[in-house]
Amino acid sequence: MKLIPYWQDTATPFAGADPGPVEGSVDVAVIGGGFSGLSAALALARRGATVAVLEAGRVMAGASGRNGGQVNNGTALDVADLAARLGLDRARRLYQAYDAAVDTVERIAGEEQIACDFRRSGKIKLAAKPGHYEKMARGFDLLHGKIDPETELIPAARIREEVNSHLFHGGLLYRKSAQMHVGRFGAGLANAAQRHGARIYEDAPVTALKRLGGAAHRVITRRGALIAKQVLVATGPSRTGPFFFFRRRIIPVGSFIVATEPLSQDQADTIMPTRRTATTTKNIGHYFRLAPDNRLIFGGRARFALSSPTSDRTSGRILEAGLRDAFPQLGAVRIDYCWGGIIDLTADRLPRAGEHEGLFYALGYSGHGTQMSVHMGQQMAALMAGDAAANPLRGLAWPAIPGHFGPPWFMPFVGLYYRVQDYLH
Ligand SMILES: Cc1cc2nc3c(=O)[nH]c(=O)nc-3n(C[C@H](O)[C@H](O)[C@H](O)COP(=O)(O)OP(=O)(O)OC[C@H]3O[C@@H](n4cnc5c(N)ncnc54)[C@H](O)[C@@H]3O)c2cc1C
Repeated sequence: MKLIPYWQDTATPFAGADPGPVEGSVDVAVIGGGFSGLSAALALARRGATVAVLEAGRVMAGASGRNGGQVNNGTALDVADLAARLGLDRARRLYQAYDAAVDTVERIAGEEQIACDFRRSGKIKLAAKPGHYEKMARGFDLLHGKIDPETELIPAARIREEVNSHLFHGGLLYRKSAQMHVGRFGAGLANAAQRHGARIYEDAPVTALKRLGGAAHRVITRRGALIAKQVLVATGPSRTGPFFFFRRRIIPVGSFIVATEPLSQDQADTIMPTRRTATTTKNIGHYFRLAPDNRLIFGGRARFALSSPTSDRTSGRILEAGLRDAFPQLGAVRIDYCWGGIIDLTADRLPRAGEHEGLFYALGYSGHGTQMSVHMGQQMAALMAGDAAANPLRGLAWPAIPGHFGPPWFMPFVGLYYRVQDYLH
């Protein structure tokens, strides 16, 4: 079993990083070389700005290169709950931002000719308990009638036509959702940004920022420093660098994935005949899909722990047990890959983007950002050029999380809380 992402093992990595020192001046410094940063760099460079991407490690080594490749529409939170909290109009606009985000990924893949197996597969949200299906059914009129007519309730009697497992009690189908090979998309995004003129520096962690007035900063990295008229913070759940304001608002949480050996066509057709992306309704639930070569990519939170080789292996064993429980018909199928990554969770699981004290930022996708990070990169480029309306997340309050100063000491308690919730509801 390999302890690296399947995506990384089956894509040609970006190899165009700038070998020179970080120096001089640019219009925009983008901090972070994941989807948010690379997408912003591409859009900014296409607008004619001079851009430097400063990445602490390797491009795409963060969540962007480690996720489940689910390019889902729909908000992470139940839209009826969101409407109750924010009002129907706001909830609808947020929901539509995710629709637009899936379109953005498809558009960029097309425009930049990135072969990334993008496919409008649809997503099925699987009810893990009868009560979860009843809740879906209660919210369905609002969702289908007022927000997304391309949704469908799938009752328990039909759910095995979608996902052939004994575990589920119905589901909700979102037709606009898609899937892709994130390794190939990310490398393609980096190549496209560079082709349009962005300079990309790897192994260049930003260690300090000095505000020079307005939005201009001196940006200091381990490989030198540069002056930028504007700075975009696209660092996900970063635990290094001068980002205390963001760290107090984001909880870094591990998420883990295993990938099987390629299934036979017959096995693949048996377990997921419609080849959707799939997520389950539990707080500590699962997400899964088939890769184009028929591997089952099966992920979940597994444990409330951070990612490291030991942690990934432990989580992998928990996920393997979950996979075998969901699909006993796969018998002793081999697990070929196991990896983990860190998601940037906000208290309300909604991302945040805007400007704080001269720094632009787009962060906090809360495990639902493969599409949204790409989209927000594009939108931030427009926002930084003066188009405030381009930010679909504008106006969301973002208070610090009480008692949270960086290290997530409270994670075991959050894990326990969610386990109890999953047991009770
Ligand atoms: C295991 C896993 C599965 C997931 N599955 C899905 C899924 O199927 N669908 C979905 O929608 N979402 C999923 N997500 C979430 C999704 O991957 C993220 O929301 C998205 O990739 C965020 O992109 P980003 O560019 O904002 O952050 P990242 O990809 O994390 O990039 C941030 C970058 O900033 C760099 N950085 C940090 N600090 C500094 C610094 N001081 N200086 C310079 N650089 C710095 C990091 O090295 C990193 O490369 C998953 C996440 C994980 C971990």
